[in-house]
Amino acid sequence: MLLKILVLYALLNIVYSASEHPILLIVSYDAFKYNFFDTKLVPNMERIRKNGTYSDYLINVFPTKTFPNHHSIATGLYPEVHGVIGNSYFDQDRSTLQKMGKDMFSYNKGVVPIWRLNEDSGKGRYSGSMMWPGAVFPYQGKNITYRQDFDSKIDWYKRIDTVITWLTDPYKPANLVMLYIEEPDTHAHALGPHSQTVLQLLRDLDNITLYLKEQLEKHKLADKANVIHLSDHGLVGVKPTNFINITQYMKNGTYNMADSSPVLQIYPKKGYQQKIYDSLKAGSQKNGHFKVYLKKDFPKQWHYKKSTRSPPILVMSDVGYAMDDLIESAPLYAKAYNFTLTNNSEFGVHGYETNVTEMRPFFMARGPKIKVGHKVAPFHTVDLFNLFTKILEIPHLPNNGSMGNIVEILTEKPASHTFGSILVVTAVGVLIAVLIVSAAASIALAIVKRQQTIATAAALNKRFPQTFVRNDAVEVQHLLEPEDA
Ligand SMILES: [Zn+2]
Repeated sequence: MLLKILVLYALLNIVYSASEHPILLIVSYDAFKYNFFDTKLVPNMERIRKNGTYSDYLINVFPTKTFPNHHSIATGLYPEVHGVIGNSYFDQDRSTLQKMGKDMFSYNKGVVPIWRLNEDSGKGRYSGSMMWPGAVFPYQGKNITYRQDFDSKIDWYKRIDTVITWLTDPYKPANLVMLYIEEPDTHAHALGPHSQTVLQLLRDLDNITLYLKEQLEKHKLADKANVIHLSDHGLVGVKPTNFINITQYMKNGTYNMADSSPVLQIYPKKGYQQKIYDSLKAGSQKNGHFKVYLKKDFPKQWHYKKSTRSPPILVMSDVGYAMDDLIESAPLYAKAYNFTLTNNSEFGVHGYETNVTEMRPFFMARGPKIKVGHKVAPFHTVDLFNLFTKILEIPHLPNNGSMGNIVEILTEKPASHTFGSILVVTAVGVLIAVLIVSAAASIALAIVKRQQTIATAAALNKRFPQTFVRNDAVEVQHLLEPEDA
């Protein structure tokens, strides 16, 4: 009987095994606009939002396209640094149009995405990517342990089931998983963000969010896993009456073009740059609904100029307008989605500047390291990397984000932040507060240390010789610096 109980116990442990490291699951819903919550079609997501920490929206990176933003989420870097400057770009050295592929994600060999950093930060840390854009490729010459390339035929429930098997693998349990869902983006491009299909998709996304929560609970992961739900951008509806033919201003064969509305990258052939620019500029003044920029004039806030990949000329249509690519694809959408193309047909477009309200993504998080019932001010997509490293307890690398914007999300504030806040009260208050905080911290530390010692002392000693001490020193130093440093 005792043997039977022991065997059963062992089996249960295998079934419910999970990483001893902090667990982080990041779920991206492509083009889930910040105010889709106002539709009231996502009650389960709303519940998570209110029970965890959320911000009204995120400030994403330019262009507000899928691949640049997913890689900025994963690296804390602007597109001009990580080099994913659009959903496509033109390779000027090889004269080829580059789309999703290894080349797109290998511009800067120094880039270390969060999934690589996690695995490199200690033994027993395993990362997984369920279709996250760019995570299927090797970084620093290495692939992560679990990876599934994008495949729209694998349904969302199956994706979640697979993610759960990674998190509960008895031998290599993942402690970081990136999960990507391609909706509502795919259908919203073809049918517009206000279509009935997209509204139904919001309900479907709400249902899989509940399913994910239930599966985490079923596998005893709910109290261990920190789950961040977010998106890369929103979208805006554009009608055919607002399509602009900009290629009429350029002579065929004198240029190459990449990406799609509302930002078209123009690569003039040798000797044609000035002519093309002048012609587009004249067209822009005549039409009034698109702008033309030379690379040297790209606005600073785009963080888009420094990459050698950035195009010599960029054309951007006004909000609510699109260009030649949509003139071509609109009838194809009509055919594929079985509707009649009229001037009232609506298509979803994103890629505009980050200060365009409709481009805003959402953010919400829940888990043992996340504050409950809390709201934080909108922060930057590039800040997320610092949030991830903090949750995962791994060293953060230099990046374009700030730590100051995300400390409010976490249950445990770094010591220097707490100290900084206390400084504003009176001298007597300081003394009392410091005494209380010190006493509380000592007790908490003692309890935490005792629990850690009992549970994982042997494992931690093996995995992290001195790393924890060094990391804490780095964090404190960073927080003492100005946020813009
Ligand atoms: Zn997207």
